[in-house]
Amino acid sequence: MIPFNKPYICGKELWNIAQAHTLGQMAGDGNFTKQCNEWLEQRTGCHKALLTHSCTAALEMAAILADIKPGDEVIMPSYTFVSTANAFVLRGGVPVFVDIRPDTLNIDETLIEAAITSRTKAIVPVHYAGVACEMDTIMDIARCHDLLVIEDAAQGVMSTYKGKALGAIGHLGTLSFHETKNIISGEGGALLINDPRLAERAEIIREKGTNRSSFFRGQVDKYTWVDIGSSYLPGEIIAAFLCAQMEEADNITEQRLALWSHYHEALAPLESAGRLRRPVIPETCRHNAHMYYILLDSLETRTALMAKLKKQGVNSVFHYVPLHSSPAGLKYGRVHGGGGMTHTENLSDRLLRLPLYVGLSEEIDIILAVCINYFMGKRDVNI
Ligand SMILES: *Cc1c(COP(=O)(O)O)cnc(C)c1O
Repeated sequence: MIPFNKPYICGKELWNIAQAHTLGQMAGDGNFTKQCNEWLEQRTGCHKALLTHSCTAALEMAAILADIKPGDEVIMPSYTFVSTANAFVLRGGVPVFVDIRPDTLNIDETLIEAAITSRTKAIVPVHYAGVACEMDTIMDIARCHDLLVIEDAAQGVMSTYKGKALGAIGHLGTLSFHETKNIISGEGGALLINDPRLAERAEIIREKGTNRSSFFRGQVDKYTWVDIGSSYLPGEIIAAFLCAQMEEADNITEQRLALWSHYHEALAPLESAGRLRRPVIPETCRHNAHMYYILLDSLETRTALMAKLKKQGVNSVFHYVPLHSSPAGLKYGRVHGGGGMTHTENLSDRLLRLPLYVGLSEEIDIILAVCINYFMGKRDVNI
């Protein structure tokens, strides 16, 4: 079987973990966490980076930092992972879903302004597949209406928009190091703070609502409960693992991009023949090859191609059930403007993700052969 994903191990992870063990540093915010935070600050240019135990945790911190109160509205796409919305719903916020662009499958920036009401507090662009949203427009809208921008850059580590790292453009940004992402620690994430005014409170929220971080820097003489918060930091074993991955980030990205381009070139004739559509990367974006997806003409074709791939030993997957139509989305969110979710509904039925991981080699040609043969009506390939 060719799996959909295979976590890549760089080699130094266990050595780093042994170091943390030897040093007797097991709780959070030890040397490895500091190294990871510094790497993120250097590589993204953010004001401050704080490692978290997941991107979900970073989104929850962002919702607290944005001071989301019951009834406050947060504009976001419906075509995203549940945590994008859930983090705000936990604070009583209301996700207001707008449709996506048919080219990048990112939030349609031209629909945002009309979705703003007196209750709107924030905009949450999600950089789907590590390809940036139209951030200049989104930041302009936010400035005009005095809103916060929280980038869900879970899939966007090492990607840029007009040369700026994803997650380092809005007031806040969140990254994921879940094993299905490009750079991993099993579970893991980070909050990038770009607005310096939010930095001190972010540290407090992450440390159970205490000023423990200032205490350790010698800025206060005792530490105590000063705000709401929770435990959002990972232990050092996770950070030690992640540190080894960060060292290899350029290499990982390069290898993923090579696989991505291989798919992209090999599938060009099928796109020209009108059988499928390939991902679109705008000129302003440098992406990180987080995923390779194809868009088929219908749900029926997707189901049939997936079954064909499965029969040939290839695991392909699709996602997301649009949040506005999910049970919790119906209960906690609303669609802006009553029913304009055409692209979200249509594209989510037709999207198929193909295996992409460092270590995928000749198998990629088997995957491609199955796809090409499916459309050319040939017999099954022998594997
Ligand atoms: C993976 C993902 C998340 C959640 O990341 P975790 O680290 O698993 O919490 C959130 N948003 C998007 C868009 C994602 O792809």
